[in-house]
Amino acid sequence: MSRHHLTIVVSLLSVSAIGKPPPTPSEFLGFEVGGDRQLADYRQITAYLRALAANSGKIQVENLGPTTLGNELILAAISSEQNLRELKKYQDIARRLADPRGLTPPEIDALVEQGKLIVLVTCNIHSTEIGASQMAMEWAHALITAEDAQTQRRLDNVILLLVPSLNPDGQIMETEWYRKNLGTKYEGMRLPWLYHHYVGHDDNRDWFMLTQKETRALNRAVYFKWFPQVWLDEHQMGSAGPRIFTPPYADPVAKTIHPLIWRGVNLIGTTMAFRLEERNKSGVIHAYSYDAYWPGGTKNTAWWKNIFGLLTEVASARLATPIDVPPTELSGGRKGLIEYEQQTSFPNPWPGGRWRLRDIMDYERIASDALLESCTEHRRDFLRGAATMALSAIAAGKPDEYYRIPIAQADPVTAAHLAHLMAEHGVKVQISVDGKAFLINTAQPYGAFVSEMLGIQRYPRVKVTTGASILAPYDVAAWSLPLMMGVEVQKVSLPAAEAANSRPITDGDWPTGGVDGSGPIYALSPEANNVSRLINAAAKQKRALSIATAEFTSGGVRHRAGTILLEPGSDLGSLASKYHLRVQALTQKPSVPAARLREVRVGIYKPWLASMDEGWTRWLLEQYEFNLKTLDNAAVKAGKLNGAFDAIILPDVQKEVILEGKPKREEESMKYFAEFPPEYANGIGKEGAKNLKDFVAGGGTLIALAHSGELLIDEFNIPVRNVLAKAKAEAFSCPGSILRVSLDRNHPVTYGMPAQAAAFVNEPIAYETVLPGEEMRRTVLAWYPDDPEDVLLSGWIHGQEKLVRRAAAVALTYGKGKIVLLGFRVQHRAQTEGTFKLLFNAIHWAGMG
Ligand SMILES: [Zn+2]
Repeated sequence: MSRHHLTIVVSLLSVSAIGKPPPTPSEFLGFEVGGDRQLADYRQITAYLRALAANSGKIQVENLGPTTLGNELILAAISSEQNLRELKKYQDIARRLADPRGLTPPEIDALVEQGKLIVLVTCNIHSTEIGASQMAMEWAHALITAEDAQTQRRLDNVILLLVPSLNPDGQIMETEWYRKNLGTKYEGMRLPWLYHHYVGHDDNRDWFMLTQKETRALNRAVYFKWFPQVWLDEHQMGSAGPRIFTPPYADPVAKTIHPLIWRGVNLIGTTMAFRLEERNKSGVIHAYSYDAYWPGGTKNTAWWKNIFGLLTEVASARLATPIDVPPTELSGGRKGLIEYEQQTSFPNPWPGGRWRLRDIMDYERIASDALLESCTEHRRDFLRGAATMALSAIAAGKPDEYYRIPIAQADPVTAAHLAHLMAEHGVKVQISVDGKAFLINTAQPYGAFVSEMLGIQRYPRVKVTTGASILAPYDVAAWSLPLMMGVEVQKVSLPAAEAANSRPITDGDWPTGGVDGSGPIYALSPEANNVSRLINAAAKQKRALSIATAEFTSGGVRHRAGTILLEPGSDLGSLASKYHLRVQALTQKPSVPAARLREVRVGIYKPWLASMDEGWTRWLLEQYEFNLKTLDNAAVKAGKLNGAFDAIILPDVQKEVILEGKPKREEESMKYFAEFPPEYANGIGKEGAKNLKDFVAGGGTLIALAHSGELLIDEFNIPVRNVLAKAKAEAFSCPGSILRVSLDRNHPVTYGMPAQAAAFVNEPIAYETVLPGEEMRRTVLAWYPDDPEDVLLSGWIHGQEKLVRRAAAVALTYGKGKIVLLGFRVQHRAQTEGTFKLLFNAIHWAGMG
């Protein structure tokens, strides 16, 4: 529908609204919402919900803020007119129950009695999982127009917060792509780029690190304004298995989550399943695939903050294009349903057949109504549960026990970031009376979250039967922030007087940057990640910068290899202050070998088989102000890369994807791959690989992240191989754990790093190197421990002995250029701040002359 047409409908609606029922989504939009090959885009959805809000006292629309691409992220509050008139009161009750300190039991009883259950439903965070964004309109319409006593009762008891899409940008991309390809052989096929500008499908992996605008906006609404007690996140899954997953979740379960969460979640999930069976909806499953262990997803993070968090996953069609699934294609193959057979958790298997958008929306609608039903029936239970769990978290901590984050440490800025991150999560963070440390008390409502994020993980070894292997995690197995961020955190006991004199953290509490003394030259220690921001800003201003390639002593102070040397300049102080860094004057220029640092033109390779790692890396390097351009297949094939770039980054992408544009297929697996339109098909090909080789030989720096290293190993004749390249999961498995590595600190790529670091590993990569000929030099930058017992720091690993004495990162000279192979995930999902420096330094190395 054209914008013009839409405007007319909206104005007609507002003129003639009085006394007339609000239009259905189909009437409003002029096509059959939920019909085959029909999709409403996010702008139409918001226009519809706003039109409802303009004409009904039962719905209000709130703008949570701009998305990455500048769309508005909205939340519709739906409840009785009376409740919506008193929203502030109910928000206040929810806030007090979420932090019940100071309330007496009768006061809690009174709040439970008066309160309304605040129920958040988020739809479509994964943009291809489009059904819920369409269902949201129909559901809103049904709720505000129904006159029956049951609906009235639900709206009296519950304040529903409906987010029709948690990724509006991606919803718009998907609907535009879908419409463009309608009627062609590409109808309903995947988008060749990420459906979130930076993080694609990983937008649901960002909920403890809070890096993206959408995550941060909803996080604010949840933990600072609304304090919902129940949160349902509606997703879709593959097409050939069960039709819908409802909780209970699969094992394992995280130790630190209050058991009441699972009891409440199971109550609601079971009601959903019951209502679905009652309506003859087959293929309902629980205890399948999705575990109760990992805090990265929307409602998962909320489990540690005393919120009953639920997930539904409905089988997908091809967006709005129906599909046919013959019974022979039905499959289990995942935790909780190994074979596609009847089980108590799956009493009524779907027999196969046609599956369409309408089915998806119908299943979601029944589950969503069941959510409101349970929440109405258990309003008091869930309100009280929120307070009970908060009190239990407070009691599990100790009034004098604190996590202490000292500001004086290798990277004070990243230390401060950790403190601010916890505060952004709604955790109470203090600053010590002497101003030297951030303090987090263990006795607080989000105490379970604090100990989960600041502690280490030991993956639960749950087996289904005797002798079986343990259940694998759904996503990663570790998220210990002090390790991942490289921040020292101590657990201390504080005298009551000292704690009492601490004060709450404020937005301005960052280390004070600036210049100490004056002299002919200034030194900046290389430890902090923000050093790269300063280097990049200074290089952009054409300020003379160099880097000491050996350690030196000046005025009795030892400076490490990698120390940045800056010429005096009027704005040095403001740069240092902006990035919270201390810059020290030296009394004289040190007699130490130093290399000039030039600005580096960085190219980041972007495959059309969209890579989340490409997006994350692009986001991260933009944050750190690198001079960045994207390189697609055509640009790599065109060659002459030295003219435009000094460094090229190959994100963590399989060699087959880079070369051919298709994923690697194992011997016994399906070879079919649905083709992209020709402009997005194929990879860089042999000619592209040769161009990359010429780029390095001609003086460029090629940085290969994790899997992309295979391309260099196979095509570049370098003295490196991956000893785990063919390892099967039975021999080696590390699904996302934190491992110990040692580092050679005297190489430009490792400058500023500690002697040991925590490496995030989620792929079978361990390098063997050999002594090359005189044509090149190889340096092992990082390596795994000598003793297998020393390998694991947090998470879970199997086969760690295969890593012993193997290289984790390698640098090579090659012709006039350089190669860096980073075999572990140095910038994984922008969460591993403790190893960002290896990527940043690899780029700076390209500019060292
Ligand atoms: Zn999903």
